[in-house]
Amino acid sequence: MLQPPHSSLQVAAVPAQRVPGRDRDQDAPWHTEAVCRRDEAGLFFAPSKEPTAARLSREEAAKRVCARCPVMVECREHALLQPEPYGVWGGLTAAERRVVLARRRRREMELKKTARAAAGRIVAAG
Ligand code: SF4
Repeated sequence: MLQPPHSSLQVAAVPAQRVPGRDRDQDAPWHTEAVCRRDEAGLFFAPSKEPTAARLSREEAAKRVCARCPVMVECREHALLQPEPYGVWGGLTAAERRVVLARRRRREMELKKTARAAAGRIVAAG
């Protein structure tokens, strides 16, 4: 039985969300429905000194498990918010999560810059 990637963090940072068509107990933590709780061990975290080809193959296998997981969105968001530095979470590797986080930071900076520019125009016009 797989040690779920989120098992060390029993308190999820992301509240459970209702997904249309799904009948999930809204009070239950999202990870109670994690598909990886029932899967083979060792897919989600790299063993030490794992060769690149083996890592890529393992990560793809983990992503296939994530792809059929009903809590993939919650899991991914949890891993991004923590942030979780290792392992496959929500179908993303650690490197892929770093890219997503960098994009989010860049987008937030652009939004703030746009808001400041708009505020400056309003002050100048007033
Ligand atoms: S999305 Fe992947 S890592 Fe997250 S709970 Fe589901 S199977 Fe586990």
